[in-house]
Amino acid sequence: MGKRRTAHHNHNACVRDALAAARALCGAKLTPLRRRVLELIWASHRPIGAYAILEALGRERGRAAPPTVYRTLAFLTEHGLAHRIAMANAYVGCVHPEAAGHASQFLLCADCGEAVELDDRRIARAVASEARRKGFAVLSQSLEVRGRCPACAGDRADVG
Ligand SMILES: [Zn+2]
Ligand SMILES: [Zn+2]
Ligand SMILES: [Zn+2]
Repeated sequence: MGKRRTAHHNHNACVRDALAAARALCGAKLTPLRRRVLELIWASHRPIGAYAILEALGRERGRAAPPTVYRTLAFLTEHGLAHRIAMANAYVGCVHPEAAGHASQFLLCADCGEAVELDDRRIARAVASEARRKGFAVLSQSLEVRGRCPACAGDRADVG
């Protein structure tokens, strides 16, 4: 299993921006536990499952209760700080949390597990307008596209 990082980017800056946005959006509601879970989610751009979060918290703080972790994840997704990736049954940090409740589109690498969030209003608008044509009232929309990231696709090309 590949454990590559997204090529050439300063991930510390991703984490710093995400935590700053969370502080700005949530204020005092960003409790130490919520903040720590958000940090765990932002450990990489690969979605992390609730069980892995539970394990990490258990190592740090002694036993963490599953309902606490699920409530924390619900808080983070409801406030637009993280998205649940249904395909991976896992969570990933949102790259533009100021647009809470926005339609999300993700490219998911089948090899290394990385998730790249797109931010293209045209896609959301196209889906919404087709839904409207069918008389369907959209409550929320998320799109998950499975494939191979440039690094993994490149590796395959190398081996022929
Ligand atoms: Zn990053
Ligand atoms: Zn997002
Ligand atoms: Zn990949």
